[in-house]
Amino acid sequence: MRLNQTILILTLLASSSVSVAFAQSETKESQQPALAAATDPFDKDQAFAALERVCEIGPRMSTSDGMATQQKLLIDHFQAIGAKAYYQHFNVNDPRTGRQAKLSNLIIRWHPERKKRLMFCCHYDTRPFPDRDPVNPQGVFIGANDGGSGVAVLAELGRHIENMDGQYGIDFVFFDGEEFVFVARRDPMFLGSGYFAKQYAAGRYDVKYEYAILVDMVGDKDLQLKLEVHSLQYAKKLTKSIWSVAAKLGIKEFIVRRGHTIRDDHLPLNQIAGIPTCDIIDFDYPNPKAGNQYWHTTQDKVENCSAESLGKVGTVLLEWTRQIQQLNRVAKKRK
Ligand SMILES: [Zn+2]
Repeated sequence: MRLNQTILILTLLASSSVSVAFAQSETKESQQPALAAATDPFDKDQAFAALERVCEIGPRMSTSDGMATQQKLLIDHFQAIGAKAYYQHFNVNDPRTGRQAKLSNLIIRWHPERKKRLMFCCHYDTRPFPDRDPVNPQGVFIGANDGGSGVAVLAELGRHIENMDGQYGIDFVFFDGEEFVFVARRDPMFLGSGYFAKQYAAGRYDVKYEYAILVDMVGDKDLQLKLEVHSLQYAKKLTKSIWSVAAKLGIKEFIVRRGHTIRDDHLPLNQIAGIPTCDIIDFDYPNPKAGNQYWHTTQDKVENCSAESLGKVGTVLLEWTRQIQQLNRVAKKRK
């Protein structure tokens, strides 16, 4: 990885007015932030509206104007639902020029006083080009599933966090530079998660992450989520607990079978930071028979994603979070 000398800058963003929201109804909701009863379900339509909104921006490559627009949208959204937003800036070599470029992870934080924390994360940059597209590999890459779907699930999941009881604080981390890749196999990947993990391993954070859950490519209409092999290797207990929650909810798209072995942002978190991290990913996009033919092509667009899929993943994450928060409370009472 070609990270340059970097400085951790966690910039507390000045609170800004809520000028943009993902959907009309959300603006209304953010005016009554009392939020939801504990049983408030994950709203798949809100998640899909978030997906549409970020894809309307267009490509969201690291360092691009589209990325800046997305960052503002996310900060406004999460501040409106009770979170604090921080940037973690870092420098990398721009593969196009070899010059320094500033990238930014975005950290969204609830209940900052809680030292024991859970992390939900995704990458929010999109690949510069649809380089596997058979017709137009230099065309426009929207990254609805690969980039957008994780953002969309977290946008809606966030609505359920502020009033959630429990000992864990929760952070959402949006990694930049997952695929700031112009030439495959030449340009390094996982820049944001790599930087984050190195800072954590160096003791720069005053918190401990008990677990992290990465979501990537979860918007596929034909959703089939098998157990990703690195997740089993590094975070078996966590991974099984997520699939077990899905089974109890009757969400059959979480399939208890070994799937692909994927290199993703969970590797730095597991290997460098030592945070047990599970990657929830459906790499067969559109489906196992067709393989990953939409992946890194112009077909990775909103029309090839589904609200139902986002809803199923979000429902499992929300229930998993409620359960671990409650288990924790029970354990505390018993002491
Ligand atoms: Zn990708």
